[in-house]
Amino acid sequence: MKKNYYIQDQIVQIREDHCNEFKGHKNISADNLPPHTKKKKTKYGSETTSRRAISRTLNSFLNTGNGGTVYLGILDNGKVNGITLTEYQKEHIELGLIDLFGRYKPPVKRHRYTVKFVQIYKDEKEAEECEKKNAENKNITELESNDYTPYTGPKTEHDLRSSKHCWCDKDAISSSNTGNEITSYIVEIKIYKWDHDGILDKNDGIGEYVNIHPIYEDEEGNSYFRREVSQISYNICDLERLARYETEKRCKDIIYNLEEDIKRLESLLKCETVEKKSS
Ligand SMILES: [Zn+2]
Repeated sequence: MKKNYYIQDQIVQIREDHCNEFKGHKNISADNLPPHTKKKKTKYGSETTSRRAISRTLNSFLNTGNGGTVYLGILDNGKVNGITLTEYQKEHIELGLIDLFGRYKPPVKRHRYTVKFVQIYKDEKEAEECEKKNAENKNITELESNDYTPYTGPKTEHDLRSSKHCWCDKDAISSSNTGNEITSYIVEIKIYKWDHDGILDKNDGIGEYVNIHPIYEDEEGNSYFRREVSQISYNICDLERLARYETEKRCKDIIYNLEEDIKRLESLLKCETVEKKSS
């Protein structure tokens, strides 16, 4: 069973590939990137950026249709570094994702992604003790859940489209300055694979029968595709070629299934005729 926690500085078993990416920061959308990390012209005329928004990877996982997971707080070499987050900052990340996917064209439906905050411990011993305590606390909260009040959204609006510190970040800094220890997490943002025939994805894609996964434009109007461990931007010709290829592939599958159905029905019919004749 997959462990529900990480150990600080450990190297994880997962590798970066077509469906896994590690990020050392939490800049969800392009407007969260600090100005110094944005495009700069070099003396050779080419443009470089030192940091890319998480949105670009999420967009590529959606557009390939196969899904994938972005791990915030794992370094490029697979080392667990972690991101310290207060409850308010966790809420900021969740709302930031909802805001981002609402700006995609078409908007991304809520069932296509999940965000999970997985705690980091300093070693296995601490992990075992804390997980045991958490499980006990969970039982208590479940028992007391009769007086549960439903979540009604943040008390103060988070500044979701800015590169500057939000009030929740300032709150975390002052809390940490007064000696409070803030919990460290790996944030797992998972995009689910497109399911042509699934109840939730049915009739939501392109083409009435083929139901191919939608191609999403990100908050800047770009569409990315995942290739091994990087993203490439597609132009309209690339998109047309891709749509043609995927439609053909999907139709082949549908035709094959229909042919198999016909064969099965024909053999059933034959059996019935033979039975009738013999009786
Ligand atoms: Zn905030």
